[in-house]
Amino acid sequence: MTAEFTAAAALKAITASRPGERPSPIRDAAFDAVRTAVAESLRGATGLGGAETAVAAVAQAVAIAEKMWAEVRATPAFALGTRPAACRKGCGWCCHQRVGSPAVEVLYIAERLRQRPDASTLIARLEAWSGGRPCVFLADGGCSIYELRPLKCRGLYQVDARWCMSTYAKIDAPVFGPPPSHEYQMPPKDVFDGAVFGLALPFHSAGHDCPGVDFVPALKAIIHRPDAAQAWWRGATIFPAEVRLHDWFPPLPKASKAAKKRR
Ligand code: SF4
Ligand code: SF4
Repeated sequence: MTAEFTAAAALKAITASRPGERPSPIRDAAFDAVRTAVAESLRGATGLGGAETAVAAVAQAVAIAEKMWAEVRATPAFALGTRPAACRKGCGWCCHQRVGSPAVEVLYIAERLRQRPDASTLIARLEAWSGGRPCVFLADGGCSIYELRPLKCRGLYQVDARWCMSTYAKIDAPVFGPPPSHEYQMPPKDVFDGAVFGLALPFHSAGHDCPGVDFVPALKAIIHRPDAAQAWWRGATIFPAEVRLHDWFPPLPKASKAAKKRR
């Protein structure tokens, strides 16, 4: 029997895929808000115009998640209960990790990046990149595509950069006092993780291949393909197999025909 491919099944899969992951109402709310909006946008999207709708849906997902995060940040519970972030320009230990991104988000970032006044500089840097860390867009201690950065990057928030040094950059920092904690990373991570899966699921449900991919090499693979979104929308394989993150995107049950109709 084919399992139903529902939002509840997706959330269960996300939670089950990460050891120690706990239920999060904030993540579930972000997931639901983004999934509903993206599914609505995709309804009726056909032909070559469907690719444009798909790319626009990413901007919509980002806007929803950013608004939700601003609302969470403004709550007395967060303002009073959370220490200020250590995040600032010049830190950037978090940019030493691999960044996962839903395939459609990479298509969106590629399109926007090509339109920027500094596109030639950024593309040249991407062309010269041959792997390794930190991220190719980390420059002068800041993100050179800050307003375009992936959802996963938006979810980073830490009150103690030592935790990031040891976790992301694999540098063992001497610890004085209580050990650094990942605890405060959670509220924005929850919002933007919910948005990542809320964005990917409607595409998956509509039969479009929207896996998690390794952001930088995936972007590099399509940066010179202005037709990438349209090709992807038509079902072409545009990302090389090696950029797919099999351990990042939880396997989801296949949608039954009845479930697809309901969506
Ligand atoms: S998440 Fe960590 S490494 Fe990144 S800017 Fe914030 S404190 Fe620095
Ligand atoms: S895209 Fe920007 S924020 Fe994300 S890892 Fe790269 S430099 Fe850091």
